[in-house]
Amino acid sequence: MKKILGWIPALVVCGGVLFITQRFMSARHPQEPIQKMTRFLMDTYCIMQVPGDASVRDSMTQAFDRLEEIDKKFNALNPTSPVYRFNHENSPITDPEIVGLVQTALDVSAKSDGALDITVFPLVDLWGFYGSTPHLPGDGKIQACLKHVGWKNLAIEGGKLIKHRPDMALDFGAIAKGYGVGEAVKVLKNCGIRSALVDAGGDLYMLGTRYGKPWHVGIREPRGTGVFGGMKLTDRSMATSGDYERYFIKAGVRYHHIFDPKTGYPAHGLISATAITPDPTLADAYSTALFVLGAERALKLVATTPDLECVLVTEAGRVLISPRLQKSMAMTDLTLAGQTGK
Ligand code: AMP
Ligand code: MG
Repeated sequence: MKKILGWIPALVVCGGVLFITQRFMSARHPQEPIQKMTRFLMDTYCIMQVPGDASVRDSMTQAFDRLEEIDKKFNALNPTSPVYRFNHENSPITDPEIVGLVQTALDVSAKSDGALDITVFPLVDLWGFYGSTPHLPGDGKIQACLKHVGWKNLAIEGGKLIKHRPDMALDFGAIAKGYGVGEAVKVLKNCGIRSALVDAGGDLYMLGTRYGKPWHVGIREPRGTGVFGGMKLTDRSMATSGDYERYFIKAGVRYHHIFDPKTGYPAHGLISATAITPDPTLADAYSTALFVLGAERALKLVATTPDLECVLVTEAGRVLISPRLQKSMAMTDLTLAGQTGK
């Protein structure tokens, strides 16, 4: 029997990165107030924290409004979005913002040998991950579906996005949250804010410092509820993709929402992949790509990509940290003993 686990908790807990700054917050340091706001957007809880008094809250509201705009525009299930029309009516996309994000996704597809592929919509749909009851489809259906997937069949010509096959469709789930975080940070900066922590369900940006100290963030244990390592970051983004966010278990096998576009099945090898880089859009795109690539290929990609670092957790529970990051990381506990079950 199909058993769905993790769906609701994933939405409630939101994403792979948890703050460990919380316990140092304003209650214990009344002289260092932090404003915190939360909105449910992009299918997850988005949290913003800005050091300062209540006067910063207007700016935070504006940043959230921008995030909401992006949520609507890039949501493939929103009938008023150009993405929806592109998917269902094959009408080209001319909106420069969407075309720009597609270009970024295509660049990462090229660099990751197609591990990131925003044309996975038909697969995600077939497996039922847009609804509340995902399920294991027959292999024949999966193979047939793969014919409709392939980033190389997208083209940007004269600023317009077109598809070479009418049955293709876009899913921005792997990149839009990171883009939204970056745009929200731009709004905050335009409002004169120099320090903030913006989290869209595990896609984070740490702007400036928290009263002079770097933001201290942790990565969620993939099979637990705590964090397994801490990092001090400033002007950096960090995004985690994990097999625990949306999944179901059938006959003892975990099937999750991040697909290997070459096989049509959920990617295996890693249970969590965190990307750290200055640009939140790229952090999001790479976290998904690294997850799909698996440990060996992911580490190779990171080694040849400037300004990209990673923390990976394998199915066997090993934590792998990119060599450049090892020096700067303050991992509090690298062992995930007993955490690697389905
Ligand atoms: P993330 O949590 O950023 O790794 O994004 C996962 C979401 O991206 C999934 O829920 C799907 O909507 C979509 N997705 C799944 N597999 C892929 C893939 N290989 N490339 C691009 N998008 C994907
Ligand atoms: Mg992603």
